[in-house]
Amino acid sequence: MPLEAGLLEILACPACHAPLKERDAELICTAQDCGLAYPVRDGIPVLLVDEARRPA
Ligand SMILES: [Zn+2]
Repeated sequence: MPLEAGLLEILACPACHAPLKERDAELICTAQDCGLAYPVRDGIPVLLVDEARRPA
């Protein structure tokens, strides 16, 4: 299920406030030194640092 149009533009990483990009049902922080990946569950982005996947 695609995210609501325009939603990505207002979302920011809660850890560093960089913009996010959607990839493989996750929202990836675009900051190179952050890069946290936030899950999207049932079309709802879960923007919690505790829920985010750390970059490899
Ligand atoms: Zn970030």
